Amino acid sequence: MQKSNLLIVGSIGLDTIETTSTRVDRVLGGAASYSACSACHFTPTAIVGVVGDDFPPEHEEMLRSKSIDLTCMEKQPGKTFFWHGRYEDDMNIRETLDTQLGVFAEFSPKIPASHAATPYLFLANIHPQLQLDVLNAMQGNPLVAADTMNLWIDTTPDLLKKVIERVDIMFINDEEARMITGRTTIPKAADAIRAMGPKAAVVKRGDAGVMVFYEDDIFCLPAVPITANDPTGAGDAFAGGMMGYIASQGALNKPILRQSAVMGTVMASLTVEDFSLNRLVKVNADDIRDRVERLRSLTSFE
Ligand code: AMP
Repeated sequence: MQKSNLLIVGSIGLDTIETTSTRVDRVLGGAASYSACSACHFTPTAIVGVVGDDFPPEHEEMLRSKSIDLTCMEKQPGKTFFWHGRYEDDMNIRETLDTQLGVFAEFSPKIPASHAATPYLFLANIHPQLQLDVLNAMQGNPLVAADTMNLWIDTTPDLLKKVIERVDIMFINDEEARMITGRTTIPKAADAIRAMGPKAAVVKRGDAGVMVFYEDDIFCLPAVPITANDPTGAGDAFAGGMMGYIASQGALNKPILRQSAVMGTVMASLTVEDFSLNRLVKVNADDIRDRVERLRSLTSFE
């Protein structure tokens, strides 16, 4: 297997998802699963995480079939992380009905020497203490990005701030950016986040697109206008696509950051077309190219 260029820590789980028309039970989910399946299109990717002994072997096989390195994915006796969410008619609104950490409750990530010097690290959504543990276990000076969610802003804000202080790129959605900074407009919230440490703040706005703040540059992209069937994992696939692309280019600068936001937007739009990772696992290079062109025609003008 090729040496991994990007390490992703985050949940690997089973999700029950309800929309107004459909319900699926205990399908593959988790922030690391979506991020890695998106990132692997751009760069060799490894997952750090844990699953229980109930984790279906076909999910593990699928991840391996995408050449995702599972050396740092442990299997422990107990239950796999479980999340149950329900979307309203307006799919920007979702309610979490249940979260069971399962084996993640006792997880203590170990990064073998073979992976500790991976040059790019993405701390996908998981308890901020686990994000810090992985960060502390790294050697060298990786480029680090992190994502989070309202749960950690509510329950462990001080730990989360410690994570934010140490990352280069912070992914956050607009509501969370306002929550954590107390600022009401997105540019002011993004500035406040960057004042905490990150070089770039990437503010995700659901089907309204994304705003990327880096140095003196502000880049705004709409989402690709398609009908979403299941928005779960859009943010994770977005961040995975962006980080995978940045890692593939080997540098962080304005044009690469802008291009990476395009790749993230494309991967998110493909992900939400079907439930779970069903569409994401079938994506090929032509799908990505076609959607980049669609986004180009949507956003270019004389
Ligand atoms: P997104 O729609 O991008 O916010 O990602 C949803 C995914 O995040 C689902 O597949 C869930 O399994 C996972 N998830 C939900 N809640 C949590 C949590 N508290 N910690 C880690 N992952 C979570």
